[in-house]
Amino acid sequence: MKIIDLRSDTVTLPTPAMREAMAKAKVGDDVYGEDPTINQLQEMSAEMLGKEAGLFVPSGTMGNLIALLSHCGRGDEIIVGNKAHIFLHEAGGVSALGGIHSHQITNQNDGTLALTDIKNAIRPSDAHAPITKLVALENTQNSCGGITLSQDYINQVGDLAKERGLILHLDGARVFNAAAASTSTVKELSSPFDSVTFCLSKGLCAPVGSVLCGSNKFIAKAHRIRKQLGGGMRQAGILASAGIIALEEMSKRLSEDHERARTLAEGLAGVSGIVLDEGTPYTNMIFMSLAEHIEYPAEKIIAHMHKARGIRIGMTGERSFRLVLHYWIDDEDVKQVVDAFEELLG
Ligand SMILES: *Cc1c(COP(=O)(O)O)cnc(C)c1O
Repeated sequence: MKIIDLRSDTVTLPTPAMREAMAKAKVGDDVYGEDPTINQLQEMSAEMLGKEAGLFVPSGTMGNLIALLSHCGRGDEIIVGNKAHIFLHEAGGVSALGGIHSHQITNQNDGTLALTDIKNAIRPSDAHAPITKLVALENTQNSCGGITLSQDYINQVGDLAKERGLILHLDGARVFNAAAASTSTVKELSSPFDSVTFCLSKGLCAPVGSVLCGSNKFIAKAHRIRKQLGGGMRQAGILASAGIIALEEMSKRLSEDHERARTLAEGLAGVSGIVLDEGTPYTNMIFMSLAEHIEYPAEKIIAHMHKARGIRIGMTGERSFRLVLHYWIDDEDVKQVVDAFEELLG
């Protein structure tokens, strides 16, 4: 039985072209800056995002952490959404390791932070208050359905940050999905930001790694912090070679995943036991829950789908699910998933 794994796009395995590139990759000691493949990946990334420099890091979590530790000192405050990955899913790293205070404001349903909420969260110059240093946005906004932030909106936040002297960071784990779903390029979507992290190891299929981009000065500091955190890798060009293919080839095909997500959602919309979240899917993720008349909890349905049909699904609540489309899911798989849900809940 083929396993159809829809839990996340992090489950993507490297492609045959990646395996081949990995076997042949030219490598060196990257802590000395001597790995030619990592240098190439970093230059390519910076070029694509319109930044001066890039830094290859082991994970998106470390990329965000390095960015925030580079920009902020102990007691500084960051403004971040209450549904941001940085706030929800990074084990509190900015506070635990950086002594950085986080000021969470509500993510609106469209993934944005309201401009007035950002303005109201900026602290006065007063000894009682922490110093507001930075605003962090996320695009696509994972916990808001994988929705994209518009160019117009991020430009407005960029203007506000400039006006108020704040640094702007983007958790762009899926910024290539955001670009695929909008009329803007990754460069345009990155332009208002001082720093951007993106993941090679999600929809882009590379086995490991993220890239942090920003100015030369910022990246020089980030390089030291990566070392402090133990993220300086040696002959990691083997990993970077897969990252280069991720950028060259895989970044161009993400809209296929978005189209399949729409096809799957259309199929699931016809199953009486399923209620799709409003608007879903925005990009490569479908969010949905069980209709009231279904008695089983999500957990049971997930276990059954796995055991009986080889279909793996993410659980987002007692009665809700997330299904993520990616390179290793084809049209036949989509059909099988619809059939399996129809059989169980139709
Ligand atoms: C996956 C993800 C990250 C980083 O994840 P890692 O697993 O550490 O690579 C950061 N932000 C968002 C929005 C993500 O989805």
